[in-house]
Amino acid sequence: MGKIILTGDRPTGRLHIGHYVGSLRRRVELQNSGQFEKIFIMIADAQALTDNADNPEKVRQNIIEVALDYLSAGLDPEKSVLFIQSQISELTELTFFYNNLVTVQRLQRNPTVKAEIQMRGFSDNTDGSEPKAGIPVGFFCYPISQAADITAFKATTVPVGEDQEPMIEQTREIVRKFNSVYGTTLVEPEIMLPENSACLRLPGTDGKAKMSKSLGNCIYLSDSEEEVNAKVRGMFTDPLHLQVSDPGHIEGNTVFTYLDAFCRPEHFGMFRECFVGRKSSFTFNSLDEVKAQYQAGGLGDVMIKNFLSRVLNDTLEPIRQRRHELEKNIPYVYDILRRGSEQARAVAARTLSDVKKAMKINYFDEGVLNQLIKEQSEKYQDK
Ligand code: ATP
Ligand code: MG
Repeated sequence: MGKIILTGDRPTGRLHIGHYVGSLRRRVELQNSGQFEKIFIMIADAQALTDNADNPEKVRQNIIEVALDYLSAGLDPEKSVLFIQSQISELTELTFFYNNLVTVQRLQRNPTVKAEIQMRGFSDNTDGSEPKAGIPVGFFCYPISQAADITAFKATTVPVGEDQEPMIEQTREIVRKFNSVYGTTLVEPEIMLPENSACLRLPGTDGKAKMSKSLGNCIYLSDSEEEVNAKVRGMFTDPLHLQVSDPGHIEGNTVFTYLDAFCRPEHFGMFRECFVGRKSSFTFNSLDEVKAQYQAGGLGDVMIKNFLSRVLNDTLEPIRQRRHELEKNIPYVYDILRRGSEQARAVAARTLSDVKKAMKINYFDEGVLNQLIKEQSEKYQDK
């Protein structure tokens, strides 16, 4: 059997450069590699509703934003199936059955869910602290629903950022449990993390947490050149690098993390003038050389930020251009999503049917009903 990809994003905002390096860029490469039999890309609106239940309009508005970002970044509807999670009702049925295979304690141990609960200000109130909103059950259980998403498409490969590792592990456990109880039915997926360590969990422009739509520390794929420049100018670098001549630090310096994620060898030739100043000038041919000079002292933050802006805009400009074109053709985008959802639904329905068969709840399938009637009739005839 060929390899199958399932991955996706929550429609809680436009996509940012963390999504790009963490997952989206890779998806486009994988899509174009021809190594995958099928690629499913899901806009996870049902998952977004687990912590945005009172804000359905936000989710609805962001479906088109995410779809526009996908297509602008190079996802091709001829090669990848783009679909909307909530339109595949089979996924909720699978979740319902998988719920039985997971304990509350196991979910409580999930480090990503723990961190997200804290970030969102949900509380379980067990520590006697101020009563808070509490944790929505749907949110608490979303790793199970994610297992349904992945297994419904018999995905072998899930290209995602590092924060998703515990989710994929949870899915693998559910698959093993299901297959051992009901017989081999589901496929155990592998996570595919970014190869470049800067891309595993890109920090936000504030330098603190992971770049995340919910934290407002993002550079969006659709930001204009001016917005990117302003955000880069406002970034923290190294608090100890007060004077240009001071030795600078690379560790924890977000400007360098972004350069690690985005800089390509040709950028040094293209943007040579960024390192030409009134007081000092440099010629760099690699990022290692830039880092060495920064650490030695003499290379100012203005120069490296200017270079980063150029590097980012070089990557984002073609994406922006494609977005402007697509924004003029919204019916086309919805048509892709509608057709993709139909295709995805057909695949998920086949898996659900396999699952129900394995779980012996396919009473009315062809042949099964007759068999049941025969068995039960014989049982009662003997009485
Ligand atoms: P939300 O705050 O609504 O959860 P988010 O910004 O965390 O939004 P998701 O939709 O949860 O984005 O994540 C989609 C995909 O992007 C996942 O594969 C996730 O691992 C990846 N991703 C998100 N943020 C980053 C990041 N900062 N660095 C690397 N990958 C990321
Ligand atoms: Mg997230």
